[in-house]
Amino acid sequence: PLLPALQDLSGTSGTAASREAVRFGGLSLTYAQLAAASNALAVRLAGAGRVAVWATPTAETVVSVVAALRAGVPAVPVNPRTGARELAHIVADSAPTTVLAGPADELPAALAGLERLDVSTDTATAPDGAFPEPFPEPSPEAPALIVYTSGTTGPPKGAVLPRRAIAASLDALEDAWRWTGDDVLVHALPLFHVHGLILGVLGPLRRGGSVRHLGRFSVEGVAAELLSGGTMLFGVPTMYHRLAEALGDPAGSPGLTKALAGARLLVSGSAALPVHDHERIAAATGRRVIERYGMTETLMNTGVRADGEARPGTVGPPLRGVALRLVEEDGTVLDDPATIGEIQVRGPNLFTGYLNRPDATAAALTEDGWFRTGDMATRDADGYVRIVGRKATDLIKSGGYKIGAGEIENALLDHPGVREAAVTGEPDADLGERIVAWVVPADPGSPPPAEELADHVAGLLAPHKRPRTVRFLDALPRNDLGKIMKRSLGR
Ligand code: ATP
Ligand code: MG
Repeated sequence: PLLPALQDLSGTSGTAASREAVRFGGLSLTYAQLAAASNALAVRLAGAGRVAVWATPTAETVVSVVAALRAGVPAVPVNPRTGARELAHIVADSAPTTVLAGPADELPAALAGLERLDVSTDTATAPDGAFPEPFPEPSPEAPALIVYTSGTTGPPKGAVLPRRAIAASLDALEDAWRWTGDDVLVHALPLFHVHGLILGVLGPLRRGGSVRHLGRFSVEGVAAELLSGGTMLFGVPTMYHRLAEALGDPAGSPGLTKALAGARLLVSGSAALPVHDHERIAAATGRRVIERYGMTETLMNTGVRADGEARPGTVGPPLRGVALRLVEEDGTVLDDPATIGEIQVRGPNLFTGYLNRPDATAAALTEDGWFRTGDMATRDADGYVRIVGRKATDLIKSGGYKIGAGEIENALLDHPGVREAAVTGEPDADLGERIVAWVVPADPGSPPPAEELADHVAGLLAPHKRPRTVRFLDALPRNDLGKIMKRSLGR
């Protein structure tokens, strides 16, 4: 089964029924309570087609998703902050019959036409015999979740994720991270993407471990939870950036250094972790953040192992069961790991396809089942993958060179006058493309001279990697996961 820990609550071989499964602020559910609440809802889901889950960062969302998984009804987590147009697209595309929401949630017009089921975490109302109700386990290929991609490079696409992929990816992470039911995950991510929902919620629940969700990320909240029993932290780079800033601030959060130093595992993903932030955290705490790399369509592909070396700027080797190769534009598989190529992956972790998009599905897969990630990388001699950036937005072809934006971004972030940086290419009559640096200065009142920044990059890297244009901004355009939206920077 996908969630064995919710089915065997005997405590002898299985999870103790009294173990805390999830905690959201003051609301805590044990495994027995989560099993009862989700079984009660699963019974009500019988006959539903697809269900949309109004995915607020609450226990109701966890109960909803677990209930849908147990009932074998595909669930579509919806970002409550999605704008009207995108929401209408997602509803029309995924065609749910029913929407699951907390009793107090106000739903927008786009969801008004659906049957609404209010989700209760109150287990006292569980019908007799609903715990532990043995639901028949759906087939491994049955669609479990339809998760929309982050929309970083275009409108979000619905990735159909079978139970097989979720189980395989979570088990590969168990192998890499020695993830057990004793782990307590500190969580502050949204619950409508792979990172927060599949890794952050289903991961612990599959193991029989605990999740403590902060509702909203705060440096103080992370410190407090890690100091009171939290063993792992899953975050996106913007969170680690804020932790790094707080570590460097004499008035920063008390106990933070001790909290991070004592964590079993600090994991970053969803976007590249700037080397500068990695180094600052390592210097202050003695702990290295480990990176893993994945995407909605493939779940997790690579990750630094718990006992592996966390090399800044790398996302580790392929996870167990994942085949990974780098491929040239013409389809040639590269054997020289130092040449930049597109990452292609194959394994049990792959989705079954994009919902209603056979064209996009066919374009994303090779004939023999390799998924074209659109991410460009090189490899270290020992197989560690170094992501250079996305083919569509981060690969700059300038003066006959292929240049990755990430390397230049890391170099810019190394300059004390730079708070945030993004690098793009723009058409250039002479070079083909010209390197453009978008910089949020550390002190908005006195940004560093553009020439100085360009010299800094050229000095650290190479003359052909010198930004030709530097543009200053107050903030970079970012989405819910803190990913830089290069589309809004003209790419
Ligand atoms: P869309 O596909 O809609 O444009 P998206 O690709 O951002 O959006 P996701 O599936 O959420 O949607 O994100 C997957 C992408 O995130 C990967 O293809 C990769 O570019 C990036 N990514 C994830 N983890 C890492 C990491 N550790 N380092 C660098 N990039 C990462
Ligand atoms: Mg993508």
